[in-house]
Amino acid sequence: MVKTHNLGFPRIGANRELKFALEAYWKQTTPEDALQSTGRQLRAQNWQWQNTLDLTPVGDFSFYDHVLDTSFMLGNIPARFQAQHGASLETYFEVARGRAAGQMTKWFDTNYHYIVPEFSQNTHFTLNAAPLLAQIEEAKTQGVRTKPVLLGPVTYLALGKSTDTSQALDLLDALLPVYGELLNALAAQGIEWVQIDEPLLVTDLAPEWAHALSIAYHTLKSAPVKILLASYFGSLQENTYLAANLPVAGLHIDAVRGRQDITPLLNVLPPHRVLSLGVIDGRNIWKTDLNETLDWLEPIAQRLNNRLWLAPSCSLLHVPVDLNKETQLDPEIHSWLAFAKQKLHELQVLAKALNEGRQAVATELNNNQVASASRLRSTRVHNPSVKLALANLNTNAGTRQSPYAVRAKKQASRLNLPLFPTTTIGSFPQTPEIRRQRKAFRKQEIDVATYEAAMQAEIASCIQAQEALGLDVLVHGEAERNDMVEYFGEHLEGFAFSQFGWVQSYGSRCVKPPIIYGDIQRPKAITVEWMRYAQSLTQRPVKGMLTGPVTLLNWSFVRNDQPRATTCRQLALAMRNEVLDLERAGTHIIQIDEAALREGLPLRKAQWQSYLNWAIEAFRICANGVQDETQIHTHMCYSEFNDIMPFIAQMDADVITIETSRSNMKLLEAFKDFHYPNEIGPGVYDIHSPTLPDAAQMTALIEKAAQYIPVERLWINPDCGLKPRQWAEVNPALRAMVQTAQSLRESIPQRQARSATV
Ligand code: GLN
Ligand code: ZN
Repeated sequence: MVKTHNLGFPRIGANRELKFALEAYWKQTTPEDALQSTGRQLRAQNWQWQNTLDLTPVGDFSFYDHVLDTSFMLGNIPARFQAQHGASLETYFEVARGRAAGQMTKWFDTNYHYIVPEFSQNTHFTLNAAPLLAQIEEAKTQGVRTKPVLLGPVTYLALGKSTDTSQALDLLDALLPVYGELLNALAAQGIEWVQIDEPLLVTDLAPEWAHALSIAYHTLKSAPVKILLASYFGSLQENTYLAANLPVAGLHIDAVRGRQDITPLLNVLPPHRVLSLGVIDGRNIWKTDLNETLDWLEPIAQRLNNRLWLAPSCSLLHVPVDLNKETQLDPEIHSWLAFAKQKLHELQVLAKALNEGRQAVATELNNNQVASASRLRSTRVHNPSVKLALANLNTNAGTRQSPYAVRAKKQASRLNLPLFPTTTIGSFPQTPEIRRQRKAFRKQEIDVATYEAAMQAEIASCIQAQEALGLDVLVHGEAERNDMVEYFGEHLEGFAFSQFGWVQSYGSRCVKPPIIYGDIQRPKAITVEWMRYAQSLTQRPVKGMLTGPVTLLNWSFVRNDQPRATTCRQLALAMRNEVLDLERAGTHIIQIDEAALREGLPLRKAQWQSYLNWAIEAFRICANGVQDETQIHTHMCYSEFNDIMPFIAQMDADVITIETSRSNMKLLEAFKDFHYPNEIGPGVYDIHSPTLPDAAQMTALIEKAAQYIPVERLWINPDCGLKPRQWAEVNPALRAMVQTAQSLRESIPQRQARSATV
C-alpha cells in the first residue's frame, strides 16, 4: 500500500485568522490567551483538513516563523534577550520584531522570510521541547496520526550567522546531542516517524557541509524513532548518492523540480528504505496532471511497494489555503487550479489509484483530464498574436541607439539637472484617504470620474509637496497603485487575481501573488494618462514609473506549461510598449523597477548564468527601445551585487538607484571594483526604519559614496519607495536630503551644472 503524508500546512488560516490575532495581540487589544486559542483552533482546523492522510505534520504551526521556533526549542536565544523574560512569548516576539530583532532573510528561493539564527563562541544549546510536545499531545487527543516535523540540525546551522569569528559548523558536536535528546522525548510520547527537513541537500554543498550531514545522521541513527529525511525546493543532482546513503528510515524527494533524480536514486537506494515522492507542486497553484503523474508513478510503485509514500513536493506553506473560497474567478481558470486543500485531495486520488487501480477513481481522473485538456487548448491561454510579436522582435530590440557616454551628454543637455540631482523611488505615503478611495472604487461605490478626480488631487498635492521640498526629479507618487505587481497585472491580459489567495511572507505579513495563466498582452496604455497629468502640473521633469518584467514574473504564480524565460519575454514586450508610449507622451525619464531581480537567482550557482541571461535580456527588451535623450532609471532593493555585477552593467540603465544606507555604502565597493560606467543613486534614507536621518548623516553617506563613484555620476535618493511611511516622516527626511545636495554642491564649487561635466 502506498502511504500519503504532508510536509506542512499554511498556518495563517483560510481567512488570515492568525494575522488578525497576532496584530490584535501586538496592539495589546487582546490577551495572550486569545492568541493561544486562535493557534489551537487553526491547528485543529488544519489537522482536520488533513485527516485523510496516513501521516499528518505536527510542529509545522508557528506564531511567527518555524526557524525562530527551532532556535527557541534549542535554547539558542540571542544573549541580548535572555536577561529579560526567558523563553516567553514576549521574548519570542522581541526577537522576531522588536527593536533589536534578529535579521530576517529569505527561506531558500521562496518569498517566505525567516529569522536568522545567531551563533557565537558562547552559543550552547539546551532542549526546550515543551511547546512541541504540547502540540503533539493536542494532536493526539484529536486523533491525528502524528508525524512531528523538525528543521534538521545541518540546515539549521547553515541558515544561521556567526556574530563573531566562530564557525557555525563547529557547533555541530554541541547541537547533535540536543537533537538526540529531542528524538528520545518524541519516542517517549509514542511517536514512530519524525520528519527532519534538510533542504540544504538541494544546494551546492561544500565538502565540509556534506560531511556534516553524514556525521549528523550517523549520530542520530541510534534514536528510537524512524527518521524521514526531507529535501525539497530542487534537485539533489550530485548529492543523490549522499542522500541515498544517509542512515535514515526514509527519504523525501521533491519529485516536481527533481524528477530526474528519481531513476538514479532508485538504483542506489538501499533496500528497506522508504521513498517519499513529492509529486504535487507545493510551490505553485496549478492542478496536477494526475494521469501523467500516474503513468510515471505506476512502475515505481510496483518496484517499491510498501516503501513508496506520496506527498506534496514541499510544505504547502507557499500556496494559499482553499480554492473553494474563490467565487469570483473565471470558472475556466478556476478549473485549472488547486490550493493547499485541493492538493491534499489530489494526493488522495493518486494514492487510491495506485492502491486500488485507476478505475477506483475514474471520475476524479476524468475530471482532471478535462481540466488539463481545457488548459492545453484554451484561447485564454494561447494568443497567436503574442507569439507572433515575439517571433518578430528585432534582435537589436534590447540595445540602446548609442553607448552611455553619448546618451548621457544628450540627456544632460535636455534635462539640465544640477550636480547631485535629488529624486525619490516612486511611491509617496499611502494615506488612509488614498486607500479609502481605492477601496470605494473597487467596490463600485464611486464611479470612474470620481475616482480619477480623487487620484488626480493626490497627484497634484504630491507634485506640490515635492516642488516645495525642492526635489529635482519628481514622481507622481503611485497613489493609484495597490501594489507594484498587482497594478500592472490588472492592466495586462494573461493575469488572474484571487480574492483570498494569501501566502505568508513573514510574521503576520501576507502577499496575494497574481496568477499568470496565459500569453501576456497589453490591451492599452496603462500609466500614460496619469503621467501626462502629473507632468502638466510642473516645469520639473516627472519620472515615469513602471514595474519591470522580471519583477512581475518573480512576484507572481507563473504558468508551468512554458519556460519562465518565455513568460518573462512576453512581459518584457508588453512593458516595452508602455515605455515607448510614455516616451511618445513626453516623459523624458522612465524608471523600470526590478526590485525582485536578484531574488530570482536559482539555488544552484550553475543555473545563475542562464537565469541572468534571459532576465537581463527581458529588462533590455523592455527598457532599451527609447531614444538617446530619454533617460532610463532602474531600482533594485537588495543590492548585494558583488557576484552579478557584469549583469547589472549589461542592463545598461542610465541611472540605477539602490539600497545602501544600512550598509554604510559598503555595497558600492562592487560598483567601484567593476568600474561601473553609468550613474548611481545610492540610498541615503533607510525607509524601512522609523528613524529619521539628518542632513549631516546623509552628507557623510554621500561623501563616503564619492570615494567609490565620481560625483558627476551620483544621485541622491532614499533607499526604496516611501509608501510605508507617513508624510510627517517623509517631509523632514526629504528636506534634509535636498539640503544635503545643496550643501554638497556648494562644497564642490569647481563643478557647475551637470550638463557641463558629464
Ligand atoms: N516604485 C516602487 C515604490 O516606490 C518601488 C518599490 C520597491 O522597490 N519595492 O514603491
Ligand atoms: Zn526598493
